Amino acid sequence: MQLKSITTIFMSVLLLIAACDDTDRLIEAGWNKPTNISPIYVMTSDLNEESLQVVQAGITKAQDYLGNYGPLKVFIIGSDIEAANVVAKEFCEWTYEGQERIDECLYEDQGIDIREWAKYKSGSATAETDGRQLSIPTRAVTIANPPYDPDDDGLIGGYKVAMHEYIHIYQHAHLTDDDEIPGWIEEGSAELLAMFLAGKYEEYLNDSVKLARELRENHPGLTIEDLEDDKTAEELQKDCQQCYWRLQYETGSLATVLLINQTSMDYFFKEYIPSIFYLGKEKAFENAFGYTIDEFYITFEEFLNLPESEQFEILKPNPSLD
Ligand SMILES: [Zn+2]
Repeated sequence: MQLKSITTIFMSVLLLIAACDDTDRLIEAGWNKPTNISPIYVMTSDLNEESLQVVQAGITKAQDYLGNYGPLKVFIIGSDIEAANVVAKEFCEWTYEGQERIDECLYEDQGIDIREWAKYKSGSATAETDGRQLSIPTRAVTIANPPYDPDDDGLIGGYKVAMHEYIHIYQHAHLTDDDEIPGWIEEGSAELLAMFLAGKYEEYLNDSVKLARELRENHPGLTIEDLEDDKTAEELQKDCQQCYWRLQYETGSLATVLLINQTSMDYFFKEYIPSIFYLGKEKAFENAFGYTIDEFYITFEEFLNLPESEQFEILKPNPSLD
């Protein structure tokens, strides 16, 4: 018994040292600080200048607000599989080192995704941070087939998606490997800020209130806390993919607004998010908002059960905090 607890303590200390080492390494590499290195855009040969412009505008807009985190490569994928394969190779070489790992990326991992995005003309996008393991850490955004809808001036299409993914790059710059923030904060706050920067904040809030209410009516009891349980989240993804996304995005965004209205947009992104790196997710949250994440779930649950008009009243920006 005693030996077991000594072993447990020893293992915990080892894990702690390993975690701290990685945090120190990342700090030394400037991982959680802005850089002067400009993003590099890599695009498949089948796309035209418009795709580049839309994505570039989104990345630049988000960087103007959050700062320039890099070195960053932005990979834009079209619908030609051969051309996508060329870009996939560059993505893998940017994100991993060692031929074996690069080949694994290209033939068994993200390389497959990138070629499939081309094949199915997908509109997928990701923010990749596996490159943080490299001796000189890198980051990558991949985005397929922008601008999506030629009728919306690229505003919501590739422009907003590029911002959303860059916001993830910023969030990940302030997270250590073993301290991830809840999915609803990650997705909900990324989508909220992207919509805000795209000038669609009010429209998005109105839609989010309606969609979150609809989800509540059709699936009573389902809430953002369910996303934190791996098993429940997995089942939900299988049984109702749309519920899963509505919880992460629209419902998560409403939860984010409650936190922002208690402080401010600037405070949420520029004080709270960077503090996670040093304090860890629980302490950073408590420090920023005055309650634990679990206590917040209770407050948010009460909010979700209010009539629509009262919800809108609460979601109004707090003028005294501007
Ligand atoms: Zn996202």
